[in-house]
Amino acid sequence: MQYILALDQGTTSSRAILFDAHGRSVKSAQKEFRQIFPRPGWVEHDANEIWGTQREVIEQVLDLPHSPALVNMVAGIAITNQRETTVLWDRHTGEPVANAIVWQDRRTADVCNALRAKGYTQLLQDKTGLVLDAYFSATKLAWLLDHTPGARARAERGDLAFGTIDTWLLWKLTHGQVHATDPSNASRTLLFNLHTMQWDDELLKLFNIPRAVLPEIRPSGGHFGESDSTLFSRALPIAAMIGDQQAATFGQACFSPGMAKNTYGTGCFMLLNTESTPVTSANKLLTTVGWQRKDVATNKSLTTYCLEASVFMGGATIQWLRDGLNIIQSAADVESLAQSVSDVGDTYLVPAFTGLGAPHWDGHARGTLVGMTRGTTKAHIARAALEAIALQVADVFDAMQKDSGLALSELRVDGGASKNNLLMQIQADFLGIPVIRPSVTETTALGAAYMAGLALGFWSDTAQISSQWLVDRRFEPHLSEAERLAKRARWHQAVERAKGWAQD
Ligand code: ADP
Repeated sequence: MQYILALDQGTTSSRAILFDAHGRSVKSAQKEFRQIFPRPGWVEHDANEIWGTQREVIEQVLDLPHSPALVNMVAGIAITNQRETTVLWDRHTGEPVANAIVWQDRRTADVCNALRAKGYTQLLQDKTGLVLDAYFSATKLAWLLDHTPGARARAERGDLAFGTIDTWLLWKLTHGQVHATDPSNASRTLLFNLHTMQWDDELLKLFNIPRAVLPEIRPSGGHFGESDSTLFSRALPIAAMIGDQQAATFGQACFSPGMAKNTYGTGCFMLLNTESTPVTSANKLLTTVGWQRKDVATNKSLTTYCLEASVFMGGATIQWLRDGLNIIQSAADVESLAQSVSDVGDTYLVPAFTGLGAPHWDGHARGTLVGMTRGTTKAHIARAALEAIALQVADVFDAMQKDSGLALSELRVDGGASKNNLLMQIQADFLGIPVIRPSVTETTALGAAYMAGLALGFWSDTAQISSQWLVDRRFEPHLSEAERLAKRARWHQAVERAKGWAQD
């Protein structure tokens, strides 16, 4: 067996990637699917279309139905997925009862506000590690049960199944034989207790969710079943399921406490490994399950927890320079434009276009550009945009260090904007520690592949994986401590000016 097949089911596309024993991506296929916006603030996916595109890219990458050569070299399947997105389907027909409600969907914000007003925030943080927000699955599932005719009664009779996308794909791959999820996905629902590692009756009651719809919870790496033999010419073991950000952390080989990765995509996602301790955040970061694995020697399930923080406007700030201001043609152009000036000339862009997340949490903050003079040019603004990404990441990085009490010695990076060398250098300067970009930046799919490969014996242990993790480039900090602190302080002054602006 030469390959692990990783399925990376994302928000806008489904991908399939074959990884070899060195962790190299040898072949991949990708297909986009529809984003459905029925009303302002609502975002849906057609779960059948998700499965259809996923199946198509698997066939494409395996040369099916033309040749069985590749599929015969596949040791097993790994699933990683967009998290929190909620699917409800009929157990008998396998048909979704409605469109999936996507993580971005805000239709249940009022339900969350009402629960907050009743004082449930603390209970939810204690049990789930999450903030009470429409982002997570519980209120989306309750909405589907309440707004689909007959759904609640059918759910109570045991006729309906709930799943996040991992669970949905597993159901389809096994032809309805297995209804299961893993703790990294379950810990994003607001229904899962981080301490017992089980669904929590008190939470199920609070959100009015019948237990009968819930999937079984199994370790992230292990035996989830086999794909139906009629699908890909032979049955393939499904050996991992893990949410996308946790998978990226695993793919970055952040196996020890104090190791962290940041993904620079549309937004930025930082995760810090806190190993067996679910650290409670005092800075409104999320506590989440990283992954759960069976220890081979003792056969015990070991859980790794993470602290997680997101920055809403990461690479999206660069999209705004391109599409909103039209000062660059493509995202990659920002680097040369920003490099054409040596500094920002005391100009700061606070990209609070949709408010500010951790550690500020101000929904009324709005985008602000301060400090301009007659000498300010688009190059300064481009540089200020890159600095803004790095400064926001530095703020959540500080919050993580404070919450965890861990001093981080480096930051591993990936995602589209991590290709930008100037941004990575600025990031190292503002953090005061090295920023390290690996040679494989497909870390999400790779992490899932590693999780499956370890369960299948394709790789022997995490030490082997750590040795495969190769550095593309290491960015060392150049600013002095005093310069760095002055920069960060000036940024915080700019952030204060962005806060509380919106009047709604
Ligand atoms: P996602 O997975 O969220 O779609 P990607 O990891 O594909 O995101 O990264 C795309 C984002 O990275 C876009 O927001 C884009 O503006 C930004 N980006 C891409 N290349 C660069 C670059 N060279 N410099 C800065 N930002 C970039």
